[in-house]
Amino acid sequence: MTRVQIGAVLVGATLLLVWGFIRVISRWTIVPEHQATIQGERITKSDEEWRQILSPMQYYVTRQKGTERAFTGEYWDHHEDGVYRCVCCGQVLFDSRTKFDSGTGWPSFWEPAGDCVSLLPDHSHLMVRTEVVCGRCGAHLGHVFPDGPPPTGRRYCMNSAALKFEHRNADSASRASTSPGQK
Ligand code: FE
Repeated sequence: MTRVQIGAVLVGATLLLVWGFIRVISRWTIVPEHQATIQGERITKSDEEWRQILSPMQYYVTRQKGTERAFTGEYWDHHEDGVYRCVCCGQVLFDSRTKFDSGTGWPSFWEPAGDCVSLLPDHSHLMVRTEVVCGRCGAHLGHVFPDGPPPTGRRYCMNSAALKFEHRNADSASRASTSPGQK
């Protein structure tokens, strides 16, 4: 074998290894792309308009694809019964019945509340991930991974700052909290 042939074999073997590595990593990290069905009117606002209605952290996460630090958000250890809405447009995104303790420090769900989120490939930060955005307003919510519990096997790893919790029966919950003589 000539030097050139040995070189070609080495290059080929390396490419094969890299390809195999990417295949294995992909299986661990990538959930296929998906476009949500738009619920009602699509919400579009300018950056300035979003800045005015969101807190700096909410703006950073939802409009700049930021990530809150683990174990710092409002909902990672939140166990009340209700739904989680998009903090930007109010669309219901997740139900507390699908929430589970992932141990990651971010609120995690095994399923969205209907066809309300879009899934997009995300190759930022030298990682291969699937981004989750609100299907109605495009807010960045977090990422989804194929290592969740049954029945879906998916882990929707969300940022608390992108969500707004609402009790299952918000009317009766607010009445109970404002009625005198009731706890
Ligand atoms: Fe939204």
